[in-house]
Amino acid sequence: MISENLALVKNRIAEAARKAGRSPGGVRLVAVSKGVPADRINRARDAGATLFGENKAQEAMGKIAQLGRVGISWHFIGHLQKNKAKYVLDLFDMVHSVDSLALAGAIHGEALKRGAVMPILLQVNVSGEESKFGAAPGELEDLLSGISRLSGVRVRGLMTIPPYDPDPEASRRHFARLREIRDRLAGLNIENVSLDELSMGMSNDFAIAVEEGATLVRVGTAIFGERPETANGRNKAC
Ligand SMILES: *Cc1c(COP(=O)(O)O)cnc(C)c1O
Repeated sequence: MISENLALVKNRIAEAARKAGRSPGGVRLVAVSKGVPADRINRARDAGATLFGENKAQEAMGKIAQLGRVGISWHFIGHLQKNKAKYVLDLFDMVHSVDSLALAGAIHGEALKRGAVMPILLQVNVSGEESKFGAAPGELEDLLSGISRLSGVRVRGLMTIPPYDPDPEASRRHFARLREIRDRLAGLNIENVSLDELSMGMSNDFAIAVEEGATLVRVGTAIFGERPETANGRNKAC
């Protein structure tokens, strides 16, 4: 089941990439394993998944201890509290959800202690939805120039979660907007900042996201099936 789902998702990514005139190799699949026990994650790994996304440091810790980090990579995709930055440094290869200078500073501080540099994405609230995490588009320029001075983090791109809509086409304008914002910011050529990555698209709308330029799609349910209710929040704090 997991292997069939994974194959299906990969095919749809490749199809969407070709439709948009992009190389399927330019899109990485983040298999979102929040709420999924280690044995099921292992099945996805056996089926060829190499990159997993978790949204709670605490939950991820046990699973990463079991499954390791050899041949697989873990990305943190959830809302992160500053006091959890230390866990993230020890467990993850990228953080998708940085939305303030204070949080970037906390990650930078932990990275310095380890002589590491953490790749991060800035989470952008493109729709202006009130309940959402993410920096407002108008804040990004200042945020980027502030973060660019922190040697323990390196900005690689932008991430967004559009408002949920059962019609995947409804996400298209939000994805296009994130790409436009990225293109404008990239033109500023801020030192120590690269904006190659666009993390956008989930189970319902990842094909649309790929058509609009996603380089990382975060897909959980379409690979692992429905999560138990408690792990089902789209954007809950950890
Ligand atoms: C849960 C989650 C996903 C995956 O959602 P699905 O609809 O299960 O694919 C993607 N991104 C973030 C930030 C999430 O929290």
